[in-house]
Amino acid sequence: MACSASTCQSNCYRDQPQEEEEDAKHTNTNSIATNTISNNNRNNSHGLCLKCKANPPISADTHADDSRFCADCFRANLFGKFRFAVTSNAMISPTDNVLVAFSGGPSSRVALQFVHEMHSKAQKNFDASRDRSLPVFGVGVAFIDETSVYSVPSSEQDNAIGDITSIVENLALPTKQLYVVPIESVYSEDSGDGRERLKKLLDAVPDATGREDLLLHLRMLALQKIASQNGYNRLLLGSCISRIACHVITATVKGQGYSLPADIQYVDSRWEIPVLLPLRDCLAQELNMLCRLDGLKTVDFIRSPGSGINGLVSSFVSLLQEENPSRECTIVRTAGKLIPFHFNRIQEIDDSNVPLATRRRQKRYNLKPNECFSSESFCFICNGPLSKSDLLSLRNLEQCQTSPDTFVGACCSSCRFQVLPQDPSLLDQFSAVLPRQLVARVKHDNLDNYSVLREQIQDCLLSESDDET
Ligand SMILES: [Zn+2]
Ligand SMILES: [Zn+2]
Repeated sequence: MACSASTCQSNCYRDQPQEEEEDAKHTNTNSIATNTISNNNRNNSHGLCLKCKANPPISADTHADDSRFCADCFRANLFGKFRFAVTSNAMISPTDNVLVAFSGGPSSRVALQFVHEMHSKAQKNFDASRDRSLPVFGVGVAFIDETSVYSVPSSEQDNAIGDITSIVENLALPTKQLYVVPIESVYSEDSGDGRERLKKLLDAVPDATGREDLLLHLRMLALQKIASQNGYNRLLLGSCISRIACHVITATVKGQGYSLPADIQYVDSRWEIPVLLPLRDCLAQELNMLCRLDGLKTVDFIRSPGSGINGLVSSFVSLLQEENPSRECTIVRTAGKLIPFHFNRIQEIDDSNVPLATRRRQKRYNLKPNECFSSESFCFICNGPLSKSDLLSLRNLEQCQTSPDTFVGACCSSCRFQVLPQDPSLLDQFSAVLPRQLVARVKHDNLDNYSVLREQIQDCLLSESDDET
């Protein structure tokens, strides 16, 4: 299926892992340059697929993005990008248990499909092997039900959840466990009516963008909880390049430049359960196209369109993409030059159950300590790494550990302005209905680290009396 010609410029990913390794250094550049190259090649492809040069391309319209490959090559290319991301970052090893976050949309639908294909193949190899020594990784699926936030008629929601269940059930064997969990599960059961508390929490945030962002962080919290309670050690998301491009712009606009590089890598291990983004090199258009081609069923949920910065940026980026199909790649590639953090890697595996090839690959591609920043303090709301200036604003924290000021001091400047209510009465309400996990983050992580930092920079700090003059 995959192309083996060394002169091929069509961004094919080859079948052989060794070849993948050889090409690794160039791959990112290749995948990003695809669109540009394809523009040049369109004229000399004589109406045939650029890769196999045998079948007609999916679309006859030479200006359309799907005029490069035939359906088979298109599919193989997209799966190749996914598999390359998984293998070169050692995302999934045979002993892992992977939870796929499924929202019903095309990106996570493709992520689910690809994980399923990898899983079936591993299972086949296992069944065929004589000694059955190599285990097969486990797969589960999680769906976060947000009906309590978006008022959707219950019949519609029931239908949608029915569709999600049938999508997961209809994947070929082995059966995958599906967890449908309401977003208010971020509250522990003994803390009263979660739905009511969640409503109060969101009501206390006056800013529309802040509310959307808070909900996003809570969604991650809910996913982490499902994974950790059910024995998963990897959380796989369907975030594609288009989504990440929007995040790059919104984070920049919101003043989250310091923590931005943490969010846009293949791996994010700052969470208890490391988060994987294997579709980081795939465009939303490509994923939509695959769903159409293969009849992968998706589920639409009625969610209010982003009303604040997020909505504006998303329409801005799609406008840019319409004008020039490589814009999203350019945005992500530019942000990709920022130095990642030490947690943007999978911890190196030292397990004899894991094939030597996987361990070698991991050693080779994993971030080296000199290629990344380290950060030990995180915003209690968004879990973004805190910059030194954020940490210094924690200066009053030691004195007032029980007051709502603690919350103001323990988050990044972006969350402080966008999510935390400025009105003291709302802030009281907000801190009273925070999920316990977030409150715990405020108390444990940052205070210790703040004291360490304070000791380090003691000589440079103004004394209290200096400060007042
Ligand atoms: Zn082809
Ligand atoms: Zn934050």
